[in-house]
Amino acid sequence: MAVRIQSDLDQLELIKKNYCIGCGVCTTTKHTSLYLDEIGKYKLKLKNIDSTNVNEVLEICPFSSKANNEDKLGELLFSTENIRKNDNLGFYLSNYIGHIKEDSIRLKASSGGIITWLLKNLLNTGYITHAVHVGNSKSRPLLFEYSISEEEEAILTGASSRYYPVELSKVLNYIKNNDGRYAIVALPCFAKGIRLLQQRNSLYKERIKYVISPVCGHLKTANYARFLAWQKGIFPNELNSINFRKKIPDRLASQYGTEFFSIKNNQNLVTTVNNSTYKMGTDWGHGMFKNPACDFCDDTFGEVADISVGDAWLPQYIKDYKGNSVIVVRNPEIDEILKADTKNGELYLDKVEPEMVEKSQAGGIRNKRGDLKYRLWLKEQKGNWYPPKRIGAFDNDINDKRKKIVRLRIQISQVSHQLFIESLNKGNLKYFYKKMMPLLNHYFITYYGPIKFIKHKLKQLL
Ligand SMILES: Cc1cc2nc3c(=O)[nH]c(=O)nc-3n(C[C@H](O)[C@H](O)[C@H](O)COP(=O)(O)OP(=O)(O)OC[C@H]3O[C@@H](n4cnc5c(N)ncnc54)[C@H](O)[C@@H]3O)c2cc1C
Ligand code: SF4
Ligand code: SF4
Repeated sequence: MAVRIQSDLDQLELIKKNYCIGCGVCTTTKHTSLYLDEIGKYKLKLKNIDSTNVNEVLEICPFSSKANNEDKLGELLFSTENIRKNDNLGFYLSNYIGHIKEDSIRLKASSGGIITWLLKNLLNTGYITHAVHVGNSKSRPLLFEYSISEEEEAILTGASSRYYPVELSKVLNYIKNNDGRYAIVALPCFAKGIRLLQQRNSLYKERIKYVISPVCGHLKTANYARFLAWQKGIFPNELNSINFRKKIPDRLASQYGTEFFSIKNNQNLVTTVNNSTYKMGTDWGHGMFKNPACDFCDDTFGEVADISVGDAWLPQYIKDYKGNSVIVVRNPEIDEILKADTKNGELYLDKVEPEMVEKSQAGGIRNKRGDLKYRLWLKEQKGNWYPPKRIGAFDNDINDKRKKIVRLRIQISQVSHQLFIESLNKGNLKYFYKKMMPLLNHYFITYYGPIKFIKHKLKQLL
């Protein structure tokens, strides 16, 4: 049974405290702004908000009870005769797995380079005048921010995934003040916020022609990048940029590395790292530095986007280190463009069934469905409010071992935020390792059992 709250203002306060992803969509109301908080995520600031105007925010916030959910939005956007629906993918016209054949783009991109190719194609063919994507930030300490490109070269610099907080306030303001046809790359929850905004404001509906969504497991705080860098001897304030998805020849696509760009003693340095050499942090199952709102998300695929693109984490595709994308198409115009560029040889695409796409994201789906039910149930036990989800709160959908794993993941995530701040203040990274390791050991034993744990520890000693 959902936990009741007193008023809409109370709901917004609770979202601000526990469930705000920091997308920035609500800043279009002028009642909110965002700042980067100490754990490195965007946090909401309320301005002149009262019971008369709070609904303006709640109606466009992806985490509010006043917003349409992804099913309803998907129906309003995509419901046509030819469309089909799948529990995890949402509506879909076609699904593909593949890549752009041009290596200069594919190698810069995260998986198959499909998002960068699409933005470039839409711009060059005049479907859009502006591409809105994530690029390097112009102001430190931020490493990345949303930017708007009107030229192909600028789009190419935006390729690759930034496991880093970004927010939409500046670009939404730009769109409001500048006529044009825009395509936006937006994580599933950001995409939902954009669709809700489009429902309320026809200007955004007219100008934002396409929403493109990366598939999403969870979002990291800014301290994730700093933690990775510090592990490799780059002190957080020396870090200038980071490539989270450095492709390494002759390895599996999933065995990508990290590339750090730092400045030390006025010298620019580039450091490439094999991800298996980190002591901790890169196991996405652990959820270190996860934005807490992500634990209350049930959309893996970006169900309200015109097209969603993820990594083809499947044995037959990960063999190619250059990367392949899984693609869910909902907009017929985009489907035609994909088909045309496959025919003319620019893209390599296999048409696949939805089950294959689901298989490529099995872990993410398990986390955002079965595990989520249990996380909601935990909230209910404490009498805490949580945003309405398309699934209920249950504690009997997963077994006891899995429940323990879910609880440990919540703990690891929470502890990582605090420990990093303490370690920075002490200037001591070993403090983080020392305090975190018992929790990780507990997790390992729970997940794999004691025998595997002993073998794992012996291997580390050798
Ligand atoms: C936070 C995050 C979590 C993800 N989790 C998963 C996952 O669990 N499973 C999975 O299969 N795929 C996940 N992805 C998507 C995956 O990493 C690739 O983005 C996707 O496969 C598309 O690859 P591509 O080669 O077509 O994209 P590219 O051609 O490399 O283009 C990527 C585009 O995404 C934009 N972008 C980068 N960072 C962000 C951001 N933070 N917010 C919005 N746009 C951004 C870039 O500007 C660029 O336009 C995640 C991506 C992000 C950013
Ligand atoms: S709209 Fe986005 S930034 Fe605003 S409260 Fe909701 S999640 Fe936070
Ligand atoms: S996991 Fe969900 S809430 Fe978190 S960033 Fe991804 S889409 Fe948004």
